[in-house]
Amino acid sequence: MADNCIFCKIVRSEIPATVVYQDEQVVAFRDINPAAPTHILIIPREHIGSAAEVDASSALLAGYLVQIAAQIAKQEKLVEGGYRLVTNIGADAGQSVPHLHFHLLGGRQMAWPPG
Ligand code: AMP
Repeated sequence: MADNCIFCKIVRSEIPATVVYQDEQVVAFRDINPAAPTHILIIPREHIGSAAEVDASSALLAGYLVQIAAQIAKQEKLVEGGYRLVTNIGADAGQSVPHLHFHLLGGRQMAWPPG
């Protein structure tokens, strides 16, 4: 846990979020500034700065985040139309919250590559 990390505060329920799934390892909640009709963030409860910090001790957890993203995509009925699962790393990619998270985006067609 990181004291000043906004996503750690969501994990600790210190700030509100629209949680769509949670268990002992993972919390998933709706993005406060959605970039698509469905925009959900999937995060580990454990503070990991980004996917660049995933190592042997956290590799299973990182894979579990992807598994949960697939489960939520089904719940949100995104599988037929398709969806995007993306994680930003560092400034050039636009990472604004330094706590590992996957964006689950769907509900509209999206251009590739992103800008
Ligand atoms: P990134 O830019 O990849 O680090 O993504 C961070 C995401 O977190 C952005 O899409 C923000 O809109 C979202 N975000 C920031 N603060 C909150 C919050 N309190 N609740 C939900 N989403 C948030």
